[in-house]
Order: sequence, then C-alpha cells, then structure tokens
Amino acid sequence: MKGLKRGGRGLGEGFFQSAEILRRMTAAGICLAFVGFAGTTPGPPHHERAVAMRITLLPSAFPPSLSETHQYLTSFRINDHVAIDAGALGLFGGHAEQSRIRHVFITHSHADHVAGLPVFLDTAYRGTPECVVVYGNQSVLDSLRTDLFNGRVWPDYEHLAPNGCPFVRLCLLQPGRPVEVEGLRLTPVPVDHTVPTFGFLIEDGAGAVVFSSDTGPTSELWERARRLAHLKAVFLELSFPDALASVAETSRHLTPSLFVEEMRKLPMEVRWFAVHVKPRFREAILSDLAARPIPGLELMAAGRDYEF
Ligand SMILES: [Zn+2]
Ligand SMILES: [Zn+2]
Repeated sequence: MKGLKRGGRGLGEGFFQSAEILRRMTAAGICLAFVGFAGTTPGPPHHERAVAMRITLLPSAFPPSLSETHQYLTSFRINDHVAIDAGALGLFGGHAEQSRIRHVFITHSHADHVAGLPVFLDTAYRGTPECVVVYGNQSVLDSLRTDLFNGRVWPDYEHLAPNGCPFVRLCLLQPGRPVEVEGLRLTPVPVDHTVPTFGFLIEDGAGAVVFSSDTGPTSELWERARRLAHLKAVFLELSFPDALASVAETSRHLTPSLFVEEMRKLPMEVRWFAVHVKPRFREAILSDLAARPIPGLELMAAGRDYEF
C-alpha cells in the first residue's frame, strides 16, 4: 500500500486511507481538519513498528554553546513533516529540511510560538498547488490573519497564490477532534493559559506523546492522556521558579512545585520533559530543582533528536 511505504509505521489501513484522503482534499483546496468526534474516536490500532516517533525541540539561541540549554522560542519537529508551533521554525536547517515540513499545528497566538512562521512559509514554499497547512483554534487563525499576514508585518499569504500555487492554507481545529496527517493522529485539547490554547495528544499507532503547550494547572489534558494506549512521554512547560509563583499564576504558567502537582494527575510510567524554561529564570529554576529534585524529570535539550 502506498501509504504504508510513505509512513512506514505499520498503522492500520483505515488510518492511512483517511490520512491519504486528507492529503488529497488539502491539495484540492478543501480544508478538512476534522476526522473524528470528541471523546468517541478510538486511537489508531496498535502495531509494532520499525521507526520510532522522532521529536526535536528546535534551537532558538546563539551561539551554539547556548543553543541546547536556552530556549527563547517554541517549536517542535515531529518526524520530518509535522511541527508543533513555529517559534524558531524559520531558523532551522536549510531549504530542503524546512520544505519537508508540510503541517504546522499552532498551540496559541503568542509571539514565541509563531515568530518564525512567516519566514518558514517563505522558505518552505514549493510553488505547487499543494501547500503547507497551518492548523489552529479560532483565536490563532484570527491572530494570524489580523496580526501577522496583514500586508504590513507580512504579505497576506493566505490569499497570495502565484499561478494558483498558494503559500499556506489555514485550518480550524476543534477541541477534542483529531486530525490525521503523515501517519500521526493529533488531538487538540484545551489547556489553561491567558489566551485560548491547545495542548496536543500525538499518536502513531505504536506510541503516544503529550504536549502541554503553555499552561497553568490544567485537567482535561491529563484526563485524556490517561486513556492513551502506549503513552511514552509528556512535554510539560516549566516557566518560572517557585519564588515567582504569583507571576506564574497570573500568566498561567508552571513552577517546579506546580509541575509536580501536574505529574500527580497522570500517575503513569512515562518520561517527563520540562520545556519552555525561560532563560531569564533558568538558574533559579535549576536551583529549585537541586533543592527539591523531581524524580523522573528531564530538561529537554534543544537540537537533539528524541525517539519514542
Ligand atoms: Zn504563551
Ligand atoms: Zn510561550
């Protein structure tokens, strides 16, 4: 089967067929973002697969001596063709590497999550009828149209299509409704931040991971994560030290103490990665963690491939 060769991940035939249908409809100019219904869609059938899910936090700091540890912007690459957020997406690799990414899921409208999107779309442009698809909630799509692709900050890429070849298609996500692309199923789940924000559950038929995006204490994400088969890892934000708990509460972020409370909501054997550690507070957060170590917590290094 064609899809099986492309994905190589041993998912069920129906899963590949729906991914292929989505790809064709997207190429035809139809925005089909919803392939399931909240709370009713079973995960992809479980199969062993030869290729692991590969996740990279894209570096956003210079010089290279800081790039692993200092995360100014947020964007993750999943395998070769999918990204979560676009903070540093336009700064990563060369043209070939960027143009392989065809689906970008934006968690929320804050600049550290969308800053790299305009330059990325320019670099990834292939001049073909099939273009990059950017997914987000209504707040994200409104912001992209009004604040970014407004003819001042950047050209109106949504409607610019030289010779019928567009730069980007925007697709609306609904909470709890999964989207299937490139052998992955991504389910957006509302979390608790200062603007409407989605975390994501990502499954490939053999494993699953969870991205919290920016959030304060939250609940639905963990309720849904508990039901995932073969959950391997959680990427949870950790933005402020405990001394700034009031700032974290106001800005809807987490401290080390709050991070531990979120872990308790998902009592499963998984790897926990702290991400979104603000460089300004990195030393204070590290000293919190030295004073009260959190068993199982790993700080995610930017630029390194993690496989699950
Ligand atoms: Zn934010
Ligand atoms: Zn952020």
